Amino acid sequence: MATQGKKVALIEQSPQMYGDTCINIGCIPSKTLITAADKGKLFDASMADKTAITTRLRKKNYDTMVGANVEVITGSAKFIANKEIEVKTEQGTSQLTAETIIINTGAGSVVLPIKGLAESKNVFDSTGIQFLPTLPKNLESLVAEISA
Ligand SMILES: Cc1cc2nc3c(=O)[nH]c(=O)nc-3n(C[C@H](O)[C@H](O)[C@H](O)COP(=O)(O)OP(=O)(O)OC[C@H]3O[C@@H](n4cnc5c(N)ncnc54)[C@H](O)[C@@H]3O)c2cc1C
Repeated sequence: MATQGKKVALIEQSPQMYGDTCINIGCIPSKTLITAADKGKLFDASMADKTAITTRLRKKNYDTMVGANVEVITGSAKFIANKEIEVKTEQGTSQLTAETIIINTGAGSVVLPIKGLAESKNVFDSTGIQFLPTLPKNLESLVAEISA
């Protein structure tokens, strides 16, 4: 729409999510990790591959939008009227009005209502597990078992 001369603002709540789920915490990182594992890469090298590709694609996506004259706003948006949204950014709150507003908020993980699940340090959703700092001990022993 921006390349067709429309004034476009894109609101993304996280600076780690330009380009959305697929690039940052979905298709690309998950398949990068699977491919790295298939090639026999170890944990740190696999995570480094994943971080490198998501960082590159996130930047490319951001630069493409800005280059097309899209105003990228990093903040959380909510409707306050039919054609008006309120955006909360680190700098404060502002309102935007537009004739066309496209809602493209994606989805999030569901935490099942099982006692202790949300508080557990040993339960990960698909996002949390992609940011583990170290290979968990039980997976390590599993890998050792498989490779023996
Ligand atoms: C682990 C994983 C692997 C996947 N693998 C594949 C695959 O291999 N192939 C495939 O086809 N699909 C895959 N998917 C699914 C794919 O990523 C999603 O279907 C797709 O990203 C959905 O696109 P979307 O634009 O609807 O939402 P999203 O890509 O989720 O984008 C929504 C964006 O809106 C932002 N947002 C939400 N609420 C607000 C708000 N109030 N204010 C501002 N910003 C907000 C979010 O931060 C997010 O960046 C995978 C998903 C996951 C989680």
